[in-house]
Amino acid sequence: MSHIVIIGSGLAGCATVRALRQQGCDASITVISPEPSLFYYPGLLRSLAEMRVEDSVLINLTRFFEDQDVDHFAASVTGLSPEASVVKTDVTDVGYDYLVIASGSQYSPGIVGSEHVINPLKSWSEMMRYQRALNELEGGSLVIGFGAHPKDPLAFQGGPVFDLLFAIDSRLRNQRQRRSYDITFASPNLKHELRFVDEPFDNLLSQFKRNHIHFLGEEIVSFDRDGLDTPHTRVPSNLTAFVPGLSGPEWAASSGLKVTVSGLFETNSACQAVGHENIYVAGDAGRFSDRPMKLTQYYLADLTGEIAAHNIAALDRGKTPVAALSSDEHGITESVDNNSLICRGKQRNYIRRGVPLTWSRNLMEWQTLRRYKNVS
Ligand SMILES: Cc1cc2nc3c(=O)[nH]c(=O)nc-3n(C[C@H](O)[C@H](O)[C@H](O)COP(=O)(O)OP(=O)(O)OC[C@H]3O[C@@H](n4cnc5c(N)ncnc54)[C@H](O)[C@@H]3O)c2cc1C
Repeated sequence: MSHIVIIGSGLAGCATVRALRQQGCDASITVISPEPSLFYYPGLLRSLAEMRVEDSVLINLTRFFEDQDVDHFAASVTGLSPEASVVKTDVTDVGYDYLVIASGSQYSPGIVGSEHVINPLKSWSEMMRYQRALNELEGGSLVIGFGAHPKDPLAFQGGPVFDLLFAIDSRLRNQRQRRSYDITFASPNLKHELRFVDEPFDNLLSQFKRNHIHFLGEEIVSFDRDGLDTPHTRVPSNLTAFVPGLSGPEWAASSGLKVTVSGLFETNSACQAVGHENIYVAGDAGRFSDRPMKLTQYYLADLTGEIAAHNIAALDRGKTPVAALSSDEHGITESVDNNSLICRGKQRNYIRRGVPLTWSRNLMEWQTLRRYKNVS
């Protein structure tokens, strides 16, 4: 019987497990991650608008793993030896026949003075720290923004930062405090995030204008406790939320796999690590062929996990892997009084306003998490 090892128990790792079993794959499966739990990142942003507790976004996977006949190995991966088909961890080495790397991405080293800013998207505790700091203010200047990996301008997390921006704007309006604040959105990467498509870029700038949000599209040189500096401008800030660029794990560079300068694992359209028939990549850990941008989206985590599973199940039966990724992308931006759906891709390129998407996000969350919550 084959042994499949999956690194990571996030949405991509869990989607891979489900799809493997749905394919009728009876291989033994080991998931390696520090804890047998899944953190649902999109729920983090809801904490700004709703009463939420950490337990509502941190899903215990013990029953899911039992149900799917999966061994969870509590460890952190520290390296890989593809020639020996062995994953190195801080506990012991683990051998595999097929490997799926679904270990997500990390935040890259920050800009000078990063200790003066908060990255609320990093964890539940950082989101709470940001909210406490916001509650302590009685007005002033807020900066919210994102950057890219220092050597890879395409490795960044933009979508959730727009969500954060509009959620803060909305919250201050609801509290009738918006007039007491100046809000600046800072990102030299905004055009990259919008895939160089002029229509969404102009539309987003118009939306900023309508909501009285300033846009700063310059490189950020440094932060300090009272603001930030670009090569040309000084921007004061009483509270700065900044999401640095993304990178792969430290062990990526010595893994023997093809990685980008930011350490993300490069794949072909079948989500297969370039040049390695038995290694697949799913979710935020990968840079997928035909998708030069580093996209961090949960539908993509699901999709790439499913493609990896289909192809491994096929290989395991001695068949040719055929599942492949298409190149369409979707993004959702919410604001105070409307929602905007931004579609970017070869087939579709548009922005739609006024789409009632809040309920559909709730539905997606419910649909996604019930797979892992209420099993057996
Ligand atoms: C605040 C926020 C809001 C978001 N909102 C949306 C949204 O509205 N819509 C959308 O489409 N996307 C959204 N995203 C993006 C989406 O959440 C991610 O794309 C998705 O979670 C990626 O899943 P993943 O499994 O690849 O990575 P992760 O969820 O990061 O999971 C990685 C897993 O790997 C494990 N791991 C990491 N390193 C190691 C190691 N060395 N050894 C072993 N295990 C390891 C981790 O413990 C974890 O279990 C949001 C992201 C954030 C941060």
